[in-house]
Amino acid sequence: ETASLLADFDGQGTTADGHLVPLLANVGGAKDAVAAAELGAEGVGLFRTEFCFLERDSEPTVDEQAAAYQGVFDAFPGKKVVLRTLDAGADKPLPFLTDATEPNPALGVRGYRTDLTSPGVLQRQLEAIARAAEQSEADVWVMAPMISTADEAAKFASMCADAGLKTPGVMVEVPSAALTADAILREVSFASLGTNDLTQYAMAADRQLGPLAALNTPWQPAVLRLVRLSAEGAATEGAAAERNAKPVGVCGEAAADPALAVVLVGLGVTTLSMTARSLAAVAAVLKTVTLAQAQELAELALSARTAEDARSAVRGKLPVLEDLG
Ligand code: PEP
Ligand code: MG
Repeated sequence: ETASLLADFDGQGTTADGHLVPLLANVGGAKDAVAAAELGAEGVGLFRTEFCFLERDSEPTVDEQAAAYQGVFDAFPGKKVVLRTLDAGADKPLPFLTDATEPNPALGVRGYRTDLTSPGVLQRQLEAIARAAEQSEADVWVMAPMISTADEAAKFASMCADAGLKTPGVMVEVPSAALTADAILREVSFASLGTNDLTQYAMAADRQLGPLAALNTPWQPAVLRLVRLSAEGAATEGAAAERNAKPVGVCGEAAADPALAVVLVGLGVTTLSMTARSLAAVAAVLKTVTLAQAQELAELALSARTAEDARSAVRGKLPVLEDLG
């Protein structure tokens, strides 16, 4: 039964009542992108561009970067590809961009913040992205990692505009960004929740430390409340501007947990991006619930006392999980 449930995936995420939830892939380069397209991903929700350059000790040229990006764009002609600018630092140091002697790398000059210490690198990356986008048929969106304020979001949007990139967005993975999502979304076209870091920073628990794993789960009611605040922020901002809310996706590992994926949709998340091998299981569970049921499950999780209570309460209401094994 497991095999047939998974084989049913037809490349479109939808709830039982037909509410569309695009299911996208997280990729680190062209090889991943081709594999993700074969597995039925509707596009790319997170292209971690730093993965292309982990071995480099000098900045890749604009030409080298454009070639690497185009390899991913070409796997998804006519589809959305959300590229993230270099998220260097902490668990992903890049020798040409980050300082290995920082005392607290997770709280240091990481992601978008490297523009403070290495001006020009981000601008050249945006130029390479624009060049590759021009040569491809993908619908290219660009987002910055580790955004903490509306001011940073505005500056990033203006750099994207200068490079000719039309759909700027931000990752919401720092609690301050979730808390001010309405102000941030006034500046950019979309947001994508990085639940790995959002959990790490909300719980003050290093995502790489095994002994803290029980704290470090996106099922924590505190993390779920930050997700809800982000979706509500998008709705508030949209209402104030008298149009629909801007897209708020999730591209952290949370999206790959089928039960949690349902909760995220219930909290108002509009797209889910994950490792491609999880797409079929998430699609299979999503289509067993209506949007209203997903919202009820989200309430159940939000009101739980602990992460484990939230997880078991939600899983208990999703019998299809047993068939998935
Ligand atoms: C995240 O933080 O959830 C995320 C998707 O980014 P990364 O795991 O690459 O930090
Ligand atoms: Mg992150």
